[in-house]
Amino acid sequence: MTTRCRFCREEVTDVVLDLGLSPISNEFRGRADVAQRPQVYYPLAMLICGKCHLTQICDVATPPHFNANYAYFSSYSQSWLQHAKDFAARMTRELRLSAQSQVVEIGSNDGYLLQYFAAAGVPVLGVEPSANVAEAAFQQHGIKSIVKFFDRTTALELATAGTKADLIVANNVLAHVPDLNSFISGFKILLDPAGTIVFEFPHLLRLISECQFDTIYHEHYSYLSLAVVERMLQAHALEAYAVEQLETHGGSLRLFVRHEGAAVARAQGEESLNAIRAAETAFGLDRRDIYRRFAEEVHRTKFSLLSFLIEAKRGGKTVLGYGAPAKANTLLNYCGIGPELLAYTVDRSPYKQGRYLPGVNIPIEHPHRIFADRPDYVLVLPWNLRQEIVAQLAGISAWGGKFVTAIPRLEVFG
Ligand SMILES: [Zn+2]
Repeated sequence: MTTRCRFCREEVTDVVLDLGLSPISNEFRGRADVAQRPQVYYPLAMLICGKCHLTQICDVATPPHFNANYAYFSSYSQSWLQHAKDFAARMTRELRLSAQSQVVEIGSNDGYLLQYFAAAGVPVLGVEPSANVAEAAFQQHGIKSIVKFFDRTTALELATAGTKADLIVANNVLAHVPDLNSFISGFKILLDPAGTIVFEFPHLLRLISECQFDTIYHEHYSYLSLAVVERMLQAHALEAYAVEQLETHGGSLRLFVRHEGAAVARAQGEESLNAIRAAETAFGLDRRDIYRRFAEEVHRTKFSLLSFLIEAKRGGKTVLGYGAPAKANTLLNYCGIGPELLAYTVDRSPYKQGRYLPGVNIPIEHPHRIFADRPDYVLVLPWNLRQEIVAQLAGISAWGGKFVTAIPRLEVFG
């Protein structure tokens, strides 16, 4: 198994974790698909580049634009909306954004974030490759989007048409980018000389240290550390000037970036960068043995989840799922868990209800079914939203129902 490094173009052969074959995670299937159409599986493995240390998945021939009907509408998560609202208010204040400013968001989805800048009177523009969610942004919030993948070409088109961004936000998109160099050079082109870029991305340190292997799927091409992102920025004459740790998506970094050498309003960032750099070095993200231990931990997670489900089944207990996130696809396909162990899962998104999880063919139902069927256990699949979900489902304690999470390790509580 080899791939060409998505940053430095070196040949990458070092497999960190082989997850076998997995379907595309957001390919929710209808009843007719399940009955009649073959399921296509693709190799899924994490590799590490021996030269630049970028961890990335193996290159597979996924269908073109396999993200185009992306089923994830950001606005369905309440905690995520609050995160977006707080962020917009803070950036507007700190960067002194006004009616003369320009905010651009890459991967703007259904306008979940830009709506808050727009409400404050700041001009906004979305760049969103999925036509259906871009349309939702316009219908719901009046937010205009360019329906394209962001790259060097898109940035040149925008800059030629006179757009210069005071703030470019790219939350949870870096990992989705197949060609990192074209992508990052686009920011260099689009950013005003005094502008700021904010990247949020799940932190590789947390993925490895908390065994979050289910965040590995085909839509996530790379898994990022501060060290590697700083190397990529430097290659395009950009630089980070501050970093923050967030609890979103299992632990993310929020990186503030400017043109190399540019002055910024916030000068206190160097300490925050040094702290994360030191934490990555101390953990040993560039040491091979860390990844060997990670793979062993993933195997243990598989064994303990399967043991729990099989024992519950044999004991006559019922286990149902909550949520149908992309990460559930990795977890359930890798562990080989079908409806015989998890009869169905529920999800608040109407788009997913009535469909099936790819590969494992587990039906997705409306959340009210949990309260009709009164299961003994609810397996929380989007463990990153655990607090929110446990609060929503607090009522299951009425019949002695308990919660289960598989990551970072099997836990039964309630
Ligand atoms: Zn590389």
